[in-house]
Amino acid sequence: MKKTTGMDRAATANWRPATRALRGGTWRSEHGETSEALFLTSGYTYDDAQTVADRFAGTAQGMTYSRLQNPTVAMLEERIALMEGAEACRTQATGMAAMTAALLCQLATGDHVVAARAAFGSCRWLCDQLLPKFGIDVTIIDSADNAAWEAAIRPNTKVFFFETPANPTLDIVDLAYVCGLARTHGITTVVDNAFASPVLQRPMEYGADVVAYSATKLMDGQGRVLAGAICSSKQWIDEVLMPFQRNTGPTLSAFNAWVVLKGLETLPLRAFKQSEQAVALGEFLEPRVTKAGGHLLHPGLPSHPQHNLAMAQMDATGPIFALDVGTRARAFAVLDALKLVDISNNIGDARSLMCHPASSTHANMGDEARAAMGVTEGLLRINVGLEDIADLVEDMDQALSAAGM
Ligand SMILES: *Cc1c(COP(=O)(O)O)cnc(C)c1O
Repeated sequence: MKKTTGMDRAATANWRPATRALRGGTWRSEHGETSEALFLTSGYTYDDAQTVADRFAGTAQGMTYSRLQNPTVAMLEERIALMEGAEACRTQATGMAAMTAALLCQLATGDHVVAARAAFGSCRWLCDQLLPKFGIDVTIIDSADNAAWEAAIRPNTKVFFFETPANPTLDIVDLAYVCGLARTHGITTVVDNAFASPVLQRPMEYGADVVAYSATKLMDGQGRVLAGAICSSKQWIDEVLMPFQRNTGPTLSAFNAWVVLKGLETLPLRAFKQSEQAVALGEFLEPRVTKAGGHLLHPGLPSHPQHNLAMAQMDATGPIFALDVGTRARAFAVLDALKLVDISNNIGDARSLMCHPASSTHANMGDEARAAMGVTEGLLRINVGLEDIADLVEDMDQALSAAGM
């Protein structure tokens, strides 16, 4: 008898999180390979013409074309769905392909969206530039203010769109309240969970309808590939997302899916360890930054205005924090003095990376909108990696000294 594979929901439903991350979705071929196989194929062959007709009609199971299905990609999708606690998942080529698909697949001219002010630059571009171009109104609110969500609802509000923690200011959204409010108004919540990953936070447990990812970040976690994912109910994925995805083609490559599968194997270890290191480095830096007139933002530190909420809805608070050192000149001086931490705008990587959002990830937006979301000229964002914490402390210590702090 064959051992249970990761594709058997009846068996995998009982697996605990670390087991799901390592074995969920594993779908062995007749060769019994240990590691997931990489199926580099664009198409599939059939034994007879009727099988083709049956598969295209949906009356027979089986792959037809890799824009629609691929075995390696299917393994990744099943693993992410299991980790999220979702009925279904589909992957996309990048995180932004996922966000774009999650919104455009369900919105039409005349609809209204309420979106969080603090967001990744390209997510704000979708809200500020793309959606309005198609006659979809967007109201931007302070996502930490529960009353603002309710006040923004209109009869035609279709979607709530937000990140928590948000990039790069680490604003936290009250998931239970905002998702509950959306439910009572028949509004679909789309949560960008890239900063947490399903290991640290599962928004569906709080009533979120759609959870979207940049899998480039913690899921790959080693800075190798770009990838995106969308989790939801099977009905929403099949009926709302798939007509859009199959015909517009933001498909993830099998190779990149395979790399992310390898990343997920160690995600629980990395996410918790990096969260712990972020808190430790933050605790070391905070008194010094505060003394120099700046401040530090990390949901895992008691100084964060939504610390208690973050601790309640997250299993750990993630590898990313922000520090405001006052001016662009000083922020650049800190970056230029780094000897170990790299100047880089990626996050979720096992290496520690630091960037200046106002001139990089959030450069592509209006000065006013940037200032309103708290992305000041002195703000630095750091992704804390897996290096020895003593080396990170030493590097940041000398960089702050070099910047006169
Ligand atoms: C990086 C990021 C994205 C975009 O993901 P890509 O994989 O780079 O396309 C979207 N949302 C958040 C919160 C991100 O950090």
